[in-house]
Amino acid sequence: MAKAKKVKVRTGKRYRPGRADDHYDAIVVGSGIGGLTNAALLSLLGKKVCVLEQHYTAGGYTHAYEREGFEWDVGVHYIGEVHKPSTMKRMFDVISEGRLKWAPMDEVYDKIILKDKEFHFVAGRENFINELSKHFPEDRQMITDYVQLIRKISSETPKFFAGQAMPKWMSKCYNLIRPFLVSKEFFKNTREVLEGMTQNQELISVLTGQWGNYGQTPRDASFLMHALIAKHYLAGGAYPVGGAADIARTIIPTIQKSGGEVFTYADVEEIIVENNVAKGVRMADGSEIFADTVFTNAGFMNTIEKLLPEASKKKHNVESWKKNLYRSSAHLGIYAGFNGTSEELGLSNANLWIYPDGDHEKNLDAYRKDPNAEFPLVYISFPSSKDPDWENRFPGKSTVEIVTPAQMEWFEKWDGTEWQQRGEDYEAFKKDLSDRLMEKLFERHPQLRDKLVYSELSTPLSTNWYQKNSGGEMLALDHFVERFKESCLHPQMPIKNLYLTGSDAMTAGVGGALMGGVMSTMCLLGLKNGKQVMALFKNYQEPKQEAKPEDGTKTEAA
Ligand SMILES: Cc1cc2nc3c(=O)[nH]c(=O)nc-3n(C[C@H](O)[C@H](O)[C@H](O)COP(=O)(O)OP(=O)(O)OC[C@H]3O[C@@H](n4cnc5c(N)ncnc54)[C@H](O)[C@@H]3O)c2cc1C
Repeated sequence: MAKAKKVKVRTGKRYRPGRADDHYDAIVVGSGIGGLTNAALLSLLGKKVCVLEQHYTAGGYTHAYEREGFEWDVGVHYIGEVHKPSTMKRMFDVISEGRLKWAPMDEVYDKIILKDKEFHFVAGRENFINELSKHFPEDRQMITDYVQLIRKISSETPKFFAGQAMPKWMSKCYNLIRPFLVSKEFFKNTREVLEGMTQNQELISVLTGQWGNYGQTPRDASFLMHALIAKHYLAGGAYPVGGAADIARTIIPTIQKSGGEVFTYADVEEIIVENNVAKGVRMADGSEIFADTVFTNAGFMNTIEKLLPEASKKKHNVESWKKNLYRSSAHLGIYAGFNGTSEELGLSNANLWIYPDGDHEKNLDAYRKDPNAEFPLVYISFPSSKDPDWENRFPGKSTVEIVTPAQMEWFEKWDGTEWQQRGEDYEAFKKDLSDRLMEKLFERHPQLRDKLVYSELSTPLSTNWYQKNSGGEMLALDHFVERFKESCLHPQMPIKNLYLTGSDAMTAGVGGALMGGVMSTMCLLGLKNGKQVMALFKNYQEPKQEAKPEDGTKTEAA
């Protein structure tokens, strides 16, 4: 058997008060892809940026972790548009200076399973239409129109979000004329739009079969969010070569180049505000770090509830900001490791979306009331099959991840207890959920049953612990239509020099949060200097030679 290439999965530098400077051009609270994007772009423009991450590793939901000789990603199962020339790929190229590489998935990237029927999403517009038309021959025209519509919505998105890069006062004026600049579907929910195109409920269930990517069923999700995700993956999916941790690992050197750093174990307790101006942050250990600008990548709700000083909360009546905003659903996650390569185990790299039937709303509503009800969605990913570098690092092994929605309320009674010390009733509840989820995997892949080496289940309490998301939310704020009308979700917060970044400044998803980082950086720089960010993308040239990460965390020993 080949010798494993050793790679440290943790990224970032451990925080100690003496290791950080007293003052930076900018501080970013949280090292999710949104925050890393701010830091990298500002660093490329010569600014010294300090990223402060409370977890033991950088990357937010793009981090990976290791246990029992396996490695799993947490919130990166596949990304669209990065395996071909596109704006998204160029943005990743710029912030990682070409170090981040992508591996395209196979042509069939998603399999939608409604009870005993299976439908494939095949990469490429024509392939997508042709494949679904085999199942719905009478709806071929509708499927074609649908693909046309999601492409149109996607192409109008820059107009829809343009205000996020403007000063807030201007954005408020712009958003008044916005309905006249974009299609009416931006302001409708997904079911409303699709039922306006077809009466075929099974087809609607299939077309919305990726709803887990935005965490809401077609009744609740804005069509904008649905269209962005569906279009994002229309040309197929891709996975970071070297695993999800390579996202942070390849961006960190860009930040370090201008004297900045990404610190882990760096828990920010409060944003320091004086006379309504953000001055820096106070760490949980009491030390203080100052900066001209503070970005918060910790999520809108977490920022206004936990990071703003009491006086600022009162002054701005932050409770009133929450009126139309809701934390997204929590989730359960299985992380499983098996003996055998993907090839030996006969695993393809397509994601499975398993539904009891096509009634997404009914199934989710029933399960939310009772965790013993049938899972409304079981999503299964095969990360080791997606990463061409996996076999070099973990020869002879494979991994599987399973995700299903969950409610924080089910776990609240154990909130505040320590990991692995939550008691027998917690373990029994977890075991039951875990066994039911594993059974879903074995129903599809019985050959895995006796190859299982290790599995564990994460709950909303785990998410709260490693992400500090109090509601266990997996996708920051929900994407109801009303959310996109809320002026408080603008990068420029009412406290001077404080900026919101990441998912809540744009949308959830790695691509959405990255765009949040781009828009908030442009917003900070202002109308004139914001163009410097566009220039970074425009002037980017592919590195001549294959570049390797330089932050010292990559290869420890061969
Ligand atoms: C199970 C799962 C699967 C997913 N799959 C995909 C996928 O396949 N494709 C895709 O595009 N998207 C996927 N997503 C969504 C995607 O990962 C996220 O939307 C995106 O990464 C969020 O980025 P962000 O910049 O908003 O911040 P986050 O990644 O949420 O990072 C915020 C960071 O802030 C830190 N923080 C919070 N409070 C503090 C504090 N007080 N001090 C210091 N640090 C703090 C947190 O620890 C965290 O690291 C998935 C998400 C989940 C949960």
